[in-house]
Amino acid sequence: MPMMNNSRSSRHVAVIGAGAAGLVAARELRREGHKVVVYERGQKVGGSWVYDPDVESDPLGVDPSRAIVQSSLYDSLRTNLPREVMGFRDYPFVAKEGRDRDSRRFPGHREVLLYLEDFARDFEINELVRFETEVLHVWMEEGKWIVRSRKRAGADRDNSLIDSDEVYDGVVICNGHFTEPRIAEIPGIDSWPGKQMHSHNYRVPDPFRDQVVVLIGSSSSGADISRDIARVAKEVHIAVRSITNETIGKQPGYENIWLHSMIKSAHGDGTVVFQDGSSVLTDVVLHCTGYKFHLPFLETHDIVTVDDNRVGPLYKHVFPPLLAPWLSFIGIPWKVNPLAMFELQSKWVAGVLSGRIVLPSPEEMMEDVENFYSKLEAAGWPKRYTHNLAEYQFEYNDWLATECGCSVSEEWRKQMYEATSRNRQARLETFRDVWEDQNLISQANEDFLQYKW
Ligand code: FAD
Repeated sequence: MPMMNNSRSSRHVAVIGAGAAGLVAARELRREGHKVVVYERGQKVGGSWVYDPDVESDPLGVDPSRAIVQSSLYDSLRTNLPREVMGFRDYPFVAKEGRDRDSRRFPGHREVLLYLEDFARDFEINELVRFETEVLHVWMEEGKWIVRSRKRAGADRDNSLIDSDEVYDGVVICNGHFTEPRIAEIPGIDSWPGKQMHSHNYRVPDPFRDQVVVLIGSSSSGADISRDIARVAKEVHIAVRSITNETIGKQPGYENIWLHSMIKSAHGDGTVVFQDGSSVLTDVVLHCTGYKFHLPFLETHDIVTVDDNRVGPLYKHVFPPLLAPWLSFIGIPWKVNPLAMFELQSKWVAGVLSGRIVLPSPEEMMEDVENFYSKLEAAGWPKRYTHNLAEYQFEYNDWLATECGCSVSEEWRKQMYEATSRNRQARLETFRDVWEDQNLISQANEDFLQYKW
């Protein structure tokens, strides 16, 4: 049973980031009675969903001196979750009328941004956000957190910069984790003469016209981008880690997409060789290989580290036991339905900070983390999969909900999430427009009637 306390203390809390996670964290913290400041380096709310046609100077995204572009959206992106599942629990992502609105069940990315902007407006979050203010450094001094930030200032934003340090009781980190590229290691790549890039810097297919492209990865982005590029490229060869002999070769329905096993090596003559023995003369290698957690501003003297993409130690992926509850992370788990999870994590953090919800002792939390790590290891799960919640995201969400004293995930949401995964596997090309879970949509819409929005 969760430990609850009737008294509530109001804390001064900094939230880093005004993407979906930061917005709902700010709402929950304020609802709980805390005083909140949200730092956002961009000009608007929405984080990942603010499409940016600009890309980084280093297309591979590895040069540490490059100017960072936050969003990894490509122009053609439509959501990979249906809007009923994807929205916050108490602010449904329902279709809205309007000239700029996209009422499809799996809308384009602009509709998601409009939804997040509506959320920020309806819950009056914008007034809490300091835009164009980047957090440079976060550290602890005498039991308080110091946040050093840099604001772009001047009426015409003439690049004058103002740095300031402010003191907080707590810091909630919501900086996103789809910005820092993870790159595949390819033997011989240094002598290979072609161009490499990461999907973080992919926007539109035009630059790939008549090119031979090798794309690494079969995630949602890899699947979408390969099809996007195939409309103009000469050939698209997809290198996939887990593949069977039956699926290797030309893809049904396409004249110019081939599936391969992983890349074995790249060569000075321009060829890329696959583990299945085939090879292609290649113009571009496009890494759709995911992202790394990146916390360049956080100084905890190694109490929290990022090791092989494990952020840890974190109790239930949120609180570092030795710094809880004064430091927390929203949105670390992946392979999840993000927004509903952000909402529950935020309620938990807000309740713990006020003292309404009681955490176990640091020793107990550390023991829980160590047991969790041991289980992962025993199951042969690599460290970098620590925050992959594909197998138990709803169990996790329900645990959070119980801690917070609120209702567990709706049955239709769980079933619709599973139905969408199955539909995607069965119909990769059309799952966004053809489905069979109409009965669940009706249940969801009935459920949504209880919310005023
Ligand atoms: P972000 O949206 O990245 O927001 C982080 C914010 O923090 C940004 O605004 C950034 O500017 C700010 N920030 C970072 N560092 C600093 C700093 N030092 N100082 C100040 N501000 C800072 N999810 C779905 O539910 N459905 C989908 O269909 C879907 N498709 C996706 C497709 C792609 C290609 C990608 C990359 C992600 C997709 N996602 C999808 C996941 C999506 O990222 C989440 O839905 C969610 O938007 C993440 O929110 P966030 O707040 O954690 O991070």
